[in-house]
Amino acid sequence: MHATFPLGRPAGIRVGAHWSVLLIMALLAELLAQSLLPESVPGLSPVTYWVAGAAGSVVFLASLLVHELGHALVARHRGLAVDRITLWLLGGSTEMPDEPPSPGTAFAVAVAGPLASLLTGAGFLGLAVVLPVAVPPVVEVTLVWLGWTNLVLAVFNLLPGAPLDGGRVLQAVVWKFTGDKRRAQTVAARSGSVLGLVLASAGLVEVLWFGSIAGLWLFGIGWFLGFTARAELAAGPAREVLGRIRLGEIMTPDPVTAPGWFTVQGFVEQAASGRYRSYPVVTFDGHPVGVVSLAALARVPDAARTSTRVEDICTRPPSVAIGSPGTPLPAVLGRIGNRPGQDLVLVVENGVLAGVVSPGDVARTLELAALGAEAHRPAR
Ligand SMILES: [Zn+2]
Repeated sequence: MHATFPLGRPAGIRVGAHWSVLLIMALLAELLAQSLLPESVPGLSPVTYWVAGAAGSVVFLASLLVHELGHALVARHRGLAVDRITLWLLGGSTEMPDEPPSPGTAFAVAVAGPLASLLTGAGFLGLAVVLPVAVPPVVEVTLVWLGWTNLVLAVFNLLPGAPLDGGRVLQAVVWKFTGDKRRAQTVAARSGSVLGLVLASAGLVEVLWFGSIAGLWLFGIGWFLGFTARAELAAGPAREVLGRIRLGEIMTPDPVTAPGWFTVQGFVEQAASGRYRSYPVVTFDGHPVGVVSLAALARVPDAARTSTRVEDICTRPPSVAIGSPGTPLPAVLGRIGNRPGQDLVLVVENGVLAGVVSPGDVARTLELAALGAEAHRPAR
């Protein structure tokens, strides 16, 4: 979902669309122009049907945006940050980095989208009724279609399974009545996983039994729903614990270091008896400089080993992540690479290296979180 093109900033919120939106718009325009409009208002020119169909699909896209703006504006009103809105193949998504602090806020944010769709749908239907008789029937039919499509969208989104809005509503209600946020997340995600299976099966039946291509879309939505719900189930406990963890709690304290002033030759003899592939490099007074890997040592030609110092070839910040014992783990998580030399976070306290966080430390923390336990600072 990264290949998006910008669509402006309504109410100061960044809106982008994924290219797959064009596919949906083309399909909807075709549905309107080729079957729905000619069947309801026969005898017009193909150009008229296509103009109305294209206009209908553009307005439909705008009403998807209204749905997402419903979520985004209520979230912002309640003090939550809103990153951006993205429209794509299966609708829209509003990215909010923070989780709602209370069940009340979670409920309000979740319900705002379907409510916006409900009002939009009712608005289109109302417009079709009150418009004067002089309006061409093809416009009226398009308005009625937009009205019903938005109502269906509202109802569909209220199905009780995460990540659908109805799942978030269910989550907020369970959270409110049990006081247990994590259990509420699990209930909503399980429900979403079942719902996904049901929808995907219904879509498959529609395609195989009735030969209807529309079933493919239902299958896609069901598959995506189940996939996302299962991912949420797996990540739920870990995500909650992760947000609270500070580097100081999970770091390996007093790690084996590479003295920066050593020559490569001098350090190779020491590293040969070590157990690691990457080493934090420090100056004589313990100040961290970067990270050196065995691979980087191996790239130094034999002849240069006695004249090259370790700190000349080490990977330095910002290629290496750096933090303090109080830095939250999520702040550096995306910066821990797999390649030796970029796989250590240097934890610095008062200008001196206090420890390192390795992929092993992070994996241990995640696995403990999955087991329901929290990582503690290892005993020295
Ligand atoms: Zn929504």
